[in-house]
Amino acid sequence: MNKPVIYLDFNSTTPVDDRVLTEMLPFFTKYFGNASSKTHKYGWEAAEAVDIARNKLASLISCSPEELIFTSGSTEAINIALKGIAINYSDNKQHIITCATEHKAVLDTCLALESNGYRVSYLSVDREGKIDLNQLDELISSNTLCVCLMLANNETGTIHPAREIGKLCHEKGVFFLTDATQAAGKLRIDVEEMQIDMLCLSAHKIYGPKGVGALYLRRKNPSIKPSPVLHGGGHEKGLRPGTLNVPGIVGFGKAAEMAENALWDDAAAQSTMRTVFEQTLEKEISLSINGDMRSRLPNTTNISFNGIKASGLISALPELAFSTGSACTSALPEPSHVLKAMGLDNSQILSSARFSLGRTTTSKEIKAATDYIIQAIKKLKK
Ligand code: PLP
Repeated sequence: MNKPVIYLDFNSTTPVDDRVLTEMLPFFTKYFGNASSKTHKYGWEAAEAVDIARNKLASLISCSPEELIFTSGSTEAINIALKGIAINYSDNKQHIITCATEHKAVLDTCLALESNGYRVSYLSVDREGKIDLNQLDELISSNTLCVCLMLANNETGTIHPAREIGKLCHEKGVFFLTDATQAAGKLRIDVEEMQIDMLCLSAHKIYGPKGVGALYLRRKNPSIKPSPVLHGGGHEKGLRPGTLNVPGIVGFGKAAEMAENALWDDAAAQSTMRTVFEQTLEKEISLSINGDMRSRLPNTTNISFNGIKASGLISALPELAFSTGSACTSALPEPSHVLKAMGLDNSQILSSARFSLGRTTTSKEIKAATDYIIQAIKKLKK
């Protein structure tokens, strides 16, 4: 009989929670209306469901529901935010600051802006993936429009100091955009306390469906007004036109509500299991852990297995689902740009793997996973 594969790749995507699916299903059939249909009950029901979901999402990040627009995911939200503000404010400011360890959704968008004449500065990081706030301070000039730094890194889990970044940005009159795709549901997010002006979220990282996300845009102090980069129909304040994905949005709302309620329990359970995972492996094999040990997502561990190629380890372990630190976005996997920016050499990067735990991970799975890894590494070493 086929043994189930132990899933340790929750940063890549999460399964849709049964309670999320149950909430979504009637919106494919019974309540199938277009949320923009203003003339009948089908449309009103769909619009009401979207409002309820928007409220739940707003509660997750402590904003007001009017400050959220629904998108197809974080990549689209980042494009709408960065390109939109670049266009609208380009008369005065054409400089953006980001970091070498950001997700490709940010880095590729910045590249596109650079090719259109905008200037982008890339902060460096230390060996743990941390930025230097003094370097950020020095880089901000009267021409700087926006600082774009993620709340937590998808490969290492390293958390950026959002409160300090937000404070600095607001003191200097610069917008603060943050990619909260990985932080949502794992860290408490409060856009007021953290002085965040723009933030993106993705449903499929918090046990919701794929293809739905959101963009938070601060309404006052300051009011953020991106120019539209997509056109047609005026939905979502004219920033994300197109018929709303009502079942997806309903699922996103439910997933956000559950993430908020389960935040501390999920974090405590996952960080306890991660400690067991790391300590068990550390006792038996030579390894080093990449990331900020004092400020890391509770579910993520990025491990360099000294002298072992991570790709070989993955092939030797069909019983486990995990990933290398590589961004396999092209046909040829490149060594992770995140670990490279942290100063790891090529052989360390190629020996690194990411394990990310989730709500359905059990201690039994962690025990089995460590047994499998130890056996495989011992074999590979021979
Ligand atoms: N940002 C981060 C940090 C991510 O981990 C991901 C997905 O892997 C994205 C952005 C892109 O999100 P989406 O799949 O919703 O476009």
